[in-house]
Amino acid sequence: MALQEHEIERLAEGVVRRGDLPLLGRDPKVTYRLGIMGGTFDPIHNGHLVAAEQAFDDLGLDVVVFMPAGRPAFKLNKKVSSGEDRYAMTLLATSDNPHFVASRFEVDRPGVTYTADTLEMLRGIYADNVELYFITGADAIADIVRWRDAGRIARLAHLVGATRPGYDLARAERAIEGSPYQFDVTYLEVPALAISSSYLRGRVSRGQSLRYLTPDAVTGYIHKHNLYGVRQTRYGSVEGDAYGRRS
Ligand code: ATP
Ligand code: MG
Repeated sequence: MALQEHEIERLAEGVVRRGDLPLLGRDPKVTYRLGIMGGTFDPIHNGHLVAAEQAFDDLGLDVVVFMPAGRPAFKLNKKVSSGEDRYAMTLLATSDNPHFVASRFEVDRPGVTYTADTLEMLRGIYADNVELYFITGADAIADIVRWRDAGRIARLAHLVGATRPGYDLARAERAIEGSPYQFDVTYLEVPALAISSSYLRGRVSRGQSLRYLTPDAVTGYIHKHNLYGVRQTRYGSVEGDAYGRRS
């Protein structure tokens, strides 16, 4: 899936940009590290944010791009909020961190989103002195190495596996060892955050608070747009339209 020439903006010698992606690679003598945090982000939560921040610090990344998946290949038979809603929440959650960027790169691509295609397109956009670091939960590492495109992913990016509480790293390590491809994986000890988007969705539908689990702006967005079966609660959500009318 080659990038069309008109999609690339050439800003200076060796510096290209497409849409909302950060500019990196300007100085050919410097090696830059671009973190990519992929996910459904339905909704984004503090687990994603802490993992990305830790990767930024531990691996000396220059910036982390959060890319909500367009139509995630592995969630085709599940109900997922619109790309617009997931992108908006991701933008709100990352807006106060100077080295986090939310990107529409995958949301704006029609069809099913494959990580290998995304990485290949990024590889085509950035100069060779920009290394790609794909950040995922360590649980996802074991799956990725078995994907159809595993060889391409191994070639294109370093993997960063954020460990989730209760997760046995041995499964990921066995999968890496058993793979015919040379994966470069760094495991990160992320402070215990046993939270997931499914857990947050469940809490919203039961009328429970999301405070301290995701930034308040995301909670506000969820309530304002009635996502995840929002119910009237003492935390301020409203059912029905802006005037309290029910449809
Ligand atoms: P769901 O419960 O719907 O599966 P999720 O919380 O796993 O959602 P995703 O958007 O599917 O969120 O995850 C994006 C990436 O973030 C995945 O690689 C996932 O493993 C990782 N991740 C999710 N939650 C955490 C967490 N608490 N700590 C570290 N990594 C996480
Ligand atoms: Mg998940």
